[in-house]
Amino acid sequence: MMDRSDDVILKVDHLSAGYGGIRAIDDISFYVKRGEIVSMLGANGAGKSTLLKCLSGEHKRSAGEITFDAQPLPGHCHQIVERGISIVPEGRQIFYKLTVLENLRVGCCQRKDQENIRKDLEMVYDLFPRLEERKSQFGGLLSGGEQQMLAIARGLMARPKMLMLDEPSLGLAPIIVNQIMDTLRSIAQSGTTILLVEQNAVKALNLCDRAYVMNVGRIVLEDSGKELLANEKLMHAYLG
Ligand code: ATP
Repeated sequence: MMDRSDDVILKVDHLSAGYGGIRAIDDISFYVKRGEIVSMLGANGAGKSTLLKCLSGEHKRSAGEITFDAQPLPGHCHQIVERGISIVPEGRQIFYKLTVLENLRVGCCQRKDQENIRKDLEMVYDLFPRLEERKSQFGGLLSGGEQQMLAIARGLMARPKMLMLDEPSLGLAPIIVNQIMDTLRSIAQSGTTILLVEQNAVKALNLCDRAYVMNVGRIVLEDSGKELLANEKLMHAYLG
């Protein structure tokens, strides 16, 4: 029988990408196992967002291989969503002039399985009861924390195998950040793999199974969240 704990869902080999002459990510390789929470940490400009954009199809890589769920990752955003990767983008990017429910429907616009969509709607309302209370309100009227909940819920409405989040704690009060981190833990426990880009290293390391640290486009450290948290010198050197 296959050992699920050794089941790699995402494998990135020698990936590079940039903007004109700038090499934002430079020959990076890493993996994520099915069901894991993996954090990608690093200071401003380390290349974390560019990496997620390469994985979501929003930015084209210049070199390297990406394998997801045992097959090469397709190039286009909609094919990538269909293969099972959803992104919760930096800055939430919810639609202000759509209601909460309409925003959630955007997340599942590629699906036709109405019965499961209904179940998934219940599932995200269970995770975020606040969204159900506010389902008829415009996205633009939500607080920052509620907008982040909506962005996560919208990502989940695609029924992803892996959910990627770009800085979900940005600009939120500590109590809300804690709620978001707890919810990410329950999402992972229910079987969705999580790749989390964060600047809040302590929160991310407390949550994740393993983490990678990026510096100027390269991966410079890899360890369990626990070990990296204990390694103060290295943490300060790269994460401030
Ligand atoms: P942050 O936490 O500030 O978002 P990051 O680790 O996500 O940082 P990226 O946003 O991926 O880093 O940026 C990596 C490098 O690429 C930086 O030097 C940045 O200035 C550059 N860069 C990012 N986006 C662009 C762009 N659209 N055009 C030109 N350069 C860019």
